[in-house]
Amino acid sequence: MYEALAKRTSTLVIDGRAVAGERGTLPVIDPALGEPFAECPSASSAQLDAAVAAANRAFAQWQHSSCEERRALLLKIADRIEHNAPELAEIIVREQGKPLALAQMEVGGAVAWTRATAALELPVEVIEDSPTKRIELHRRPLGVVGSITPWNWPLMIAVWHIMPALRAGNTVVIKPSELTPLNTLRLVELIAEVAPPGLVNVVAGGSAIGRDMSGHAGIRKIVFTGSTPTGQDIMRNAAGTLKRLTLELGGNDAGIVLPGADIDAIAEGVFQSAFLNMGQTCAALKRLYVHESQYEQMCARLVAVAARQKVGNGLEEGVSFGPIQNRDQFELVCELVDDARAAGARILCGGEPLPGKGYFYPPTIVADVTDGTRLVDEEQFGPVLPVIRYATVDEAVLRANASDNGLGGSVWSSDIEQARAVAARLECGTVWINGHAEVLPHCPFGGCKMSGFGVEFGLEGLLEYTRPQLFNINRPAP
Ligand code: NAD
Repeated sequence: MYEALAKRTSTLVIDGRAVAGERGTLPVIDPALGEPFAECPSASSAQLDAAVAAANRAFAQWQHSSCEERRALLLKIADRIEHNAPELAEIIVREQGKPLALAQMEVGGAVAWTRATAALELPVEVIEDSPTKRIELHRRPLGVVGSITPWNWPLMIAVWHIMPALRAGNTVVIKPSELTPLNTLRLVELIAEVAPPGLVNVVAGGSAIGRDMSGHAGIRKIVFTGSTPTGQDIMRNAAGTLKRLTLELGGNDAGIVLPGADIDAIAEGVFQSAFLNMGQTCAALKRLYVHESQYEQMCARLVAVAARQKVGNGLEEGVSFGPIQNRDQFELVCELVDDARAAGARILCGGEPLPGKGYFYPPTIVADVTDGTRLVDEEQFGPVLPVIRYATVDEAVLRANASDNGLGGSVWSSDIEQARAVAARLECGTVWINGHAEVLPHCPFGGCKMSGFGVEFGLEGLLEYTRPQLFNINRPAP
């Protein structure tokens, strides 16, 4: 498989045709090996223009397609993804690094999300229905949607952007992260097998193509998932053409374990939601606040779960913990842990990169660390969890909210009513009770504060790909 992937030439897809990148190719690095294993085509600005023009031509027809046609296309796409699941999962492991079982879950999630999006209904709201008037609110598609995605859940996030856009009658130009482009290039190839030309186009490349997209006059909306500084840049560039935006940005989610929680029962769940995808998940649990009465017990349980992880190449049997996806992120994690250590923190497990060329960093639990330390204040986006001691619940809530981010948060307790009261005080888009980081196709998901705005998923997510059009009908006198 290594051989097959390395030899395979990936192409852009513009107007239904496979084309090479006019800016040549970019190397794609396997994070388990720390070296390139494939090449990705790099699109030029002229190719972006061609993709946007093709998407606008396709929109002329697709905007008038019926719900049944849109639904049928999405179901066909879901079948194509499912049929090619083993290949997509292996591409994800090689370019992203996650263990194969998790990559298979990502592909399974992509199929499920596509089918769930197919099943959504766009409502027509009747606002008035009187003898003299009927007023209806319809939802119309926007035009070409530009999608810009990150490297952590590359296939899943591409599907999160593309499917509701198509379901609502839009067309798409997608730019995957230059660090994990291959699965999206393959996805769009598969889509092109069943979709009209120009409906979904892919232009791979670096930030320059992303910037061209956010300023492009032919694109009506940008849906972006990635870091807050990039989201801010997109917002600035989009102002000139007054684009609609959905910005799913960074998070620094706090989890609060309430006094008296059943630590043995929750430890595994806390660990998994902090270290999901080696911690490289926007809404992973990134700061854990534990009452002083149970602090040492919680730390010990987390260390025990960490000890059960098998770190290694995601393609190897039994590996549950892969590498960090890229060198910059790997170096940031090293830096944040070293900074915490220098500030007097106790590194309970992990805490040093593994030798070799791959970007391996073992699951790391850091105790005796508090707010004001970089590891707590910044988004680590990697396999390290700071565990922070608190004395009163009011203090924990205050500290959880003392962040610029507002993506998710969680409260862990056997007393649901008490947890609910604390949850209501957290400043974030989703609060989980006895869980964290779970996203579902029928539940709106999005952040507040510097974590962005807009939501994805469910009806509310679908409506973000539409504009309202009001029909104000005056009935003739009888
Ligand atoms: P990033 O912002 O560096 O890059 C994301 C994408 O934006 C890439 O495709 C990149 O090429 C492109 N890009 C870079 N500069 C650009 C610019 N100026 N204009 C337009 N496009 C540009 O993010 P990343 O490092 O790939 O992803 C990690 C971040 O994403 C973390 O902060 C994480 O929390 C966040 N994230 C958020 C969510 C969410 O749903 N809220 C989900 C996943 C990841």
